[in-house]
Amino acid sequence: MEEAPQLPIAADWFSLTWVTGRTAVLTEPHVDELLRAGLWYLRGRDRDLLVDTGNGIAPLAPVLARLARSGRPREIVCLCTHAHIDHIGGFGEFERRLLHPAEEELALQVRNDAPLSPALWSREILDQLAESGFVPPPVLVDAIPYPGFDPIEFRPARAAPTHFVQGGDEVDLGDRRFTVVDQPGHTPGSIGLIDHEERALISGDAVYDGGLIDTMPESDIAAYLKTMELLRRLDVDVVYPGHGWPFERARLREIAEQYLRERGG
Ligand SMILES: [Zn+2]
Repeated sequence: MEEAPQLPIAADWFSLTWVTGRTAVLTEPHVDELLRAGLWYLRGRDRDLLVDTGNGIAPLAPVLARLARSGRPREIVCLCTHAHIDHIGGFGEFERRLLHPAEEELALQVRNDAPLSPALWSREILDQLAESGFVPPPVLVDAIPYPGFDPIEFRPARAAPTHFVQGGDEVDLGDRRFTVVDQPGHTPGSIGLIDHEERALISGDAVYDGGLIDTMPESDIAAYLKTMELLRRLDVDVVYPGHGWPFERARLREIAEQYLRERGG
């Protein structure tokens, strides 16, 4: 038997950063960068929107409940930009779960059943990571959320969406509306959200400032090229990405153009 690593207990599993008065990003700082997604919390008048849910290692709903100024629980609409584990692990905690229909199968499959323990990953995934120069550490956390949590035994819960959304659909928070945009490529049903008022794109993994992943079995480079063509011309001021920090339109255009050059051939 392999011995469980001795890891410290984190005081707070999620870190929270407000980027505007009503838009914040949550991350899991004790999770390895590979699986450390940005979860976007968008506060509205009538309800709040959470875009992506992290790995499901520690409960997220109580963290959001503490953010409610009134002290009363607020209605939360939860949307996942796609069904990779670092985005959809906490999906099941929320009553209203929005996802693109092309992601449903991925949301329920257990391919990456032991996300924090690379020794248990499939050869296929490890080979793909090696191709992009990534050698995973033995466990993908440097702390645990509560006593007794075993990262090797951790198996994320799986939850089906309650509502399907796709390009053109709107999510209405009362005083704030978001339009869904289709961004296939990284996965078939990857979506983003446009906040027209803040002129922001919440982009998921379709675009962030780092190595983009388009070699998974569910990826499609031809579709990704079309998505990048759209993103290159998108009229927004800021991108709130699925990994890393926000960036401006000029950088969005650079990243899209670089992708088009490298993959467009
Ligand atoms: Zn992803």
